[in-house]
Parts: sequence; structure tokens; C-alpha cells
Amino acid sequence: MSNSLRSFIDIAADSHFPIQNLPFGIFKPKNATARAGIAIGDLILDLHVLEEKGFLRIPEFGARAVFGADSLNAFLSLGRPAWRRTRELLQHLLAAETSDLRDNSELREQVFHQQSDVTMQLPARIGDYTDFYSSFHHAHNVGTMLRGPETALMPNWKWLPVGYHGRASSIVPSGTDVRRPRGQIKLPDATSPIFAASRSLDFELETAFLIGPGNSLGEPVPIDRAEEHIFGMVLMNDWSARDVQTWEYQPLGPFLAKNFCTSISPWVVTLDALQPFRRPLPPQDPEPLSYLRAETDSIYDIELEARLQTASMTEPHVITRTNFRHLYWSMSQQLAHHTVGGCNLQPGDLLASGTISGPTEDSRGCMLELTWRGANPISLPGGESRKWLEDGDTLTIGGYASGDGYRVGFGKVTGKVLPAVG
Ligand code: MN
Repeated sequence: MSNSLRSFIDIAADSHFPIQNLPFGIFKPKNATARAGIAIGDLILDLHVLEEKGFLRIPEFGARAVFGADSLNAFLSLGRPAWRRTRELLQHLLAAETSDLRDNSELREQVFHQQSDVTMQLPARIGDYTDFYSSFHHAHNVGTMLRGPETALMPNWKWLPVGYHGRASSIVPSGTDVRRPRGQIKLPDATSPIFAASRSLDFELETAFLIGPGNSLGEPVPIDRAEEHIFGMVLMNDWSARDVQTWEYQPLGPFLAKNFCTSISPWVVTLDALQPFRRPLPPQDPEPLSYLRAETDSIYDIELEARLQTASMTEPHVITRTNFRHLYWSMSQQLAHHTVGGCNLQPGDLLASGTISGPTEDSRGCMLELTWRGANPISLPGGESRKWLEDGDTLTIGGYASGDGYRVGFGKVTGKVLPAVG
């Protein structure tokens, strides 16, 4: 069905945003307030204007205006029936055979923007942010570096989706520069730490999902209902200062090494758009406890890559290619585990995958692994090499799912490293 779906808008075959996708985001046009839109080809369809003109009559909206605010939170809280109805209506309005917009040039003037003319913002007011550690290959590689291959995984790793509560205030939209952090660093042979700019700034290739309807405090979400609470996914770069992390992380986990900046892509790809790319979650050994076992659980086939461009390079260079399906724990398992003790999630909360590494050396999701803690620097076209990110480097993560003749894409999350203050 989705293959035959065509829009009256011209869309390149390699576009991330065909009519099969329709990701939601918050954008600010020049001289107007921020509002919700969906990406279609190189354009954005303005949902605020469409709603004001009476084109989005969705029963679940009631009398509310849902798309005029600078966050998707009101829409997120409505749940999948409302999301589906909205998506179907928008696919209808954009379809080649629907005349309402197609044949009304005055209306088209008002509801379409060029993506290049607007500023993208964060898609939601993110109240809380959690980062998991759900890639077996990532956990195994990092554990091997720290403890050797025999005890690479901690005893709990295959029993529960390990995670930590992150910092929401420093989550920024793609395109925001990242300032190299300063902090406490203890050099290997020193007896006391120094205070200095991080010398081992890293990226982490991740995805994250946005919570739709929340759950009440004290009421866990059963795993078979977890996806009802997941609106959609974004790409994420969890910038990390490895030297700061090495000194601070025991015994309570990451803190300042990760709270200085986290970047996400602006377009939220809905789970509905990702349905054609759903695959069964591979069997897990040991079998997880029952609250982590679903009737059917899924992983999604999404190709991911990271590109690095230094200040002297004229174009970015792909430094790793991986796939979302390499994760061991599913999003449903992460969500069920997060809430099992009674923790309440709220609309707009962000739950991230952890670094996504594949089984091969060229599919590792961060520099720590790609360079094996700096032992094997990455060679770049033009002769430069990198152990870690340097000032002026731009790191971009991209990703898409491949359909039959179309892509359901995420666009990208990008950021440039600025020198430390002072
Ligand atoms: Mn991370």
C-alpha cells in the first residue's frame, strides 16, 4: 500500500521525507512564532496554519488547538489513535489524487515553507532524559578495554537494560555548536587530578524515542503496552568527555562527562512510519524475567552512519556505519524496565538507546571504540588523523530505513566543536 502512495509534491527518490514518512517537528519561520510541521520532500507543511483553517478536524483534539505551540507535547499526550488519524489525514491531503492543496495555489503559499528558510527547534519540551546502554557490542568493547574480554560484561548486563538518568536542560537541536568542556582529569601517572579542557572529546551514535502518553506514579507500563507510549524516534549524539568520565564515573556512573551537551535531530519519525521496517527481536539468552518478555517484541531495521569533517576538509568523511537492529534490548523492554518500580514517564520524556555499535570494527558507534582508546587513530582523506574530536571538527549522524523505492529518513543531527572557554 505505502509503495503506491504518491504525493503531488516532487520528491527525490533518495529524499528522507517522502509521503510514507511525514515526521513531526517544531520550526520557526522568519517573522513568525514557532509551530508544528511535518517534513515533506524539501518542504514543511505548516500544521498550525492547516489547523487554523479547519483542515485538521481530529476527534481526539476536541476544541483544542494542538499545533500552534513551540512543542509537540500536547499532541504527544493524545496517544496513538490521534497520531494515526492525523497521519492518515495528512497523507490524504498530500496525495497526488487529492485536490484541496494541490489545486489551491493561494493556500499552498500559506501552508508550505522551504526547509532552508526556517529554523528547526527541539521537537518537545523534554522534562526528563534517560540514556540506556543497550548495544551488546558497545558494552562488550568498552568492557574489554576496561576489564579484559573475560569479564567484559558486568553480571547484570544480560538481565536488565542498564541505564542512567541524564540531564534534560542541555539537550540541543541539531546545528547547535558544542563547547569543549573543562573538568577534573586525572592523568594515568598522576596522584591528583588537574582542572583542564577535556583532551578526549567523543561522540556517541545513538537513537532516542519520545514518550507520548505518560503513566501514573506507581503504575508500571506492562511490556505488551509499551509501544502505546512511544510516539517516535530521533537521532542523538551523546557528546562525551572520556577523560572526565574515567575519573568521575565510579561508583554512580556518568555525570559531568555527559551533561554539557546532547544533540538530537529535529524531525521525529513516528513508529507508524517505521512499521514496514519492524523485525522480530532475536531470542535473548538468558531468557529475561517475565516483565521484560513481550508476546511479540521488535527491533527496527534503520541504517545509521557518522560523518566527520575537520576544519580543513571540504566534505565530510564517513567514519562508521551501523544499524539500529544491532541493539540487544528493545525500546519496549527499556520502557517496561524504566517504569517497573513505579517511575512515571511524562509526554516529551526522551529515552535514548546508548551507543549503537555493530559486530565489526567499522560499525563501532564512538571514537573510544573506533580508535580503541586512541591506540589506532582514524585516518582521514587529506592526511589528517584523529584519536578524539578536535576543535573545529563537525560530527554528523544520519540514518534512514530503506523501503521499496523510497526511504523513511531521519535527516541528520550535526554539531561543530568549539574551543573550551578561557
Ligand atoms: Mn550515551
